[in-house]
Amino acid sequence: MSLSKNILFLPGDGIGPEVMTQVRRVMAWFNASGATAFEIEDGLVGGSAYDAHGTPLHDDTMKLALDADAVLLGAVGGPKWDNLDFSVKPERGLLRLRKEMELFANLRPALVFEALAEASSLKTDLVAGLDIMIVRELTGGVYFGQPRGIETLPNGERRGINTQVYDTHEIIRVARVAFDLARARDSRVCSVEKGNVMESGLLWREEVTKLGESDYADVALSHMYADNCAMQLVRRPKQFDVILTDNLFGDLLSDCAAMLTGSLGMLPSASLGAKDANGKIPAMYEPVHGSAPDIAGQDKANPLATILSFSMMLRYSFDLGAEADLLDGAVNDVLNEGFRTGDIMQPGKTLVGTTGMGDAVLAALDRRAG
Ligand code: NAD
Repeated sequence: MSLSKNILFLPGDGIGPEVMTQVRRVMAWFNASGATAFEIEDGLVGGSAYDAHGTPLHDDTMKLALDADAVLLGAVGGPKWDNLDFSVKPERGLLRLRKEMELFANLRPALVFEALAEASSLKTDLVAGLDIMIVRELTGGVYFGQPRGIETLPNGERRGINTQVYDTHEIIRVARVAFDLARARDSRVCSVEKGNVMESGLLWREEVTKLGESDYADVALSHMYADNCAMQLVRRPKQFDVILTDNLFGDLLSDCAAMLTGSLGMLPSASLGAKDANGKIPAMYEPVHGSAPDIAGQDKANPLATILSFSMMLRYSFDLGAEADLLDGAVNDVLNEGFRTGDIMQPGKTLVGTTGMGDAVLAALDRRAG
């Protein structure tokens, strides 16, 4: 029986709508195959929402996101909206979605397709076949902790303040996501903090250790200080399976891991919240890249990061692992066949546009399914 779900599409700005068009085609392919009966609802976010409603996310769209079974977002922002007031900047739409859907776990896979291993800044043998998952805490830590601000001291100097703070429940809920993911992979979690110099890191390590012993004895847990992790990521990245870390270190380490893979146009992500009484997990999927105004509207954008974000949706929101494997396999096929958008172009390969890459993925899906 096909799985019936409501998906909210928020294409956003710049290349967002172009790459999302290719996901619509992929989604239609899965509906036609009988595996799914997904229905798409469309909404505005970012600059396009500001132009239509004077706000980067209308309340009605927020409600649609809360009601949807999953949200797929393109990208937001662009020079047209750079000078808007901070409160209505396109990015505020994204932040509101994350906050009100309470998406506390950010999943960033760093996966190197064999055909693209040469695009990495590291030596090919260090990254070929790389498959790591970074789980970053997204709603707590130093980006949100109080007190914060800039104050003027009695002596006239100014002081900038941010507070790194984590409560037990914040650590445990994101650690569970990492342990559960590891179980479906190579069963290894490396928890990363700086407990040598930060109390919040020490608490992080203690709570993760306790949870590992009580509930996840089958998962191998190790710990690493964040500075060492940054070094190890560029020294021997394949040593990791799942990396679990806080908001600040996750911000840095996930970007570092992203560069190992060579191109922004290939990187998907997911942000998840807590399961509700009906078993639904709030979830938003989006490519890591931005709205790329320099190539918007020119059929040049690589749609694979967004297509792979849809694959993560199949896997993590709907437990459709076989369908996700099929789609990941189709992406692998098109790369092996030599199809490349401009961002991942290599000598001797076939340059295609956004639509051409979508065509190639659909053809590969047909072949794999046929
Ligand atoms: P960007 O990711 O949009 O682009 C960086 C470079 O990578 C550009 O040269 C671009 O052409 C290229 N690129 C990005 N995605 C690509 C793709 N799919 N295919 C081919 N090439 C691709 O980052 P930026 O230029 O720093 O920011 C542009 C706008 O996007 C800004 O307004 C920024 O605020 C916004 N932004 C949004 C998000 C988001 O929506 N999550 C993330 C980052 C930046």
